[in-house]
Amino acid sequence: MAFGRIWMALKVEPRAFDSPAAIWRVALKVGFRAVILGCLSALVILPALYWVGLLQSPLVEVVTLTVVLSWLFAGVMSGACALSMGEMIRDLAQSRAEFERLSRTDTLSGLANRRAFNEALAEAYEDASLAILDVDRFKAINDRFGHQAGDEVIRDVAGILRGVVGDRGLVARLGGEEFGLILTGGGLAQRLALVERARNMVSAQNLRAAGVGLTVTVSAGVAEFYPGQRSELVYARADRALYQAKDEGRNRVVHEQSLPLSERDLARSPQGDDLVFGGM
Ligand code: GH3
Ligand code: MG
Ligand code: MG
Repeated sequence: MAFGRIWMALKVEPRAFDSPAAIWRVALKVGFRAVILGCLSALVILPALYWVGLLQSPLVEVVTLTVVLSWLFAGVMSGACALSMGEMIRDLAQSRAEFERLSRTDTLSGLANRRAFNEALAEAYEDASLAILDVDRFKAINDRFGHQAGDEVIRDVAGILRGVVGDRGLVARLGGEEFGLILTGGGLAQRLALVERARNMVSAQNLRAAGVGLTVTVSAGVAEFYPGQRSELVYARADRALYQAKDEGRNRVVHEQSLPLSERDLARSPQGDDLVFGGM
């Protein structure tokens, strides 16, 4: 009985709808099972009908005809239904995957967006650094060359950051001309060197925006993840370090360790727990 239930249930893995060939396999299985079930039902029901006198033709002929027709009706029909449903499921899975991807992607830069960044931030816990980078005097670029040119600069800086970081971490656009890097692995010195390299690469690149060549610089604030510490606090410390970098004249990287002790304590104090980050 249990075997019959398992056999009829036709357990299908989600991957069964990954490719046309896989969908065909499911459709064939469904069609074949429908035929077997059709034949078995006929073998049970038809003799009973014959026995009570409801069948006029010879039993063997009726059973043969039913078995043949069950290939046509039960097999082909249910196989065709399974095929079109399988394709529908595959289309839905593909659009869902695309929607998932888009909901985590920044449309202007193609980088991870704030949502993806926040998720990664919540998952990082040690041996990782958070760097927040902000383009210096960006408003002046918008004012002088137009918003479109500003967008081109954002795209170019995003490309440089992606190239420098590679698979060493996540690069996200947090909004406006602000980027977040979550760097994992390696030592603190290596992660810091990577941020420094990113800053250097941006300032060394001659960007083309609105048909003119221009260079921009970025300032960065870096903070460390500690086990058990809320990600909001790491963000707050990196943000504080970024302010410090701006205060010190921009185009530089400031690590939280070089902040005055009082400010580091503020970000780690119980009151600091109430700090909320986010918002574009
Ligand atoms: P600072 O060195 O202190 O960072 O100065 P800033 O001019 O870069 O900073 P500010 O925050 O004053 O300017 C950021 C500007 O970025 C203001 C806003 O109009 C512009 N902005 C925000 N989002 C976008 C965007 O998506 N595209 C463009 N082109 N501009 C944007
Ligand atoms: Mg700025
Ligand atoms: Mg900014």
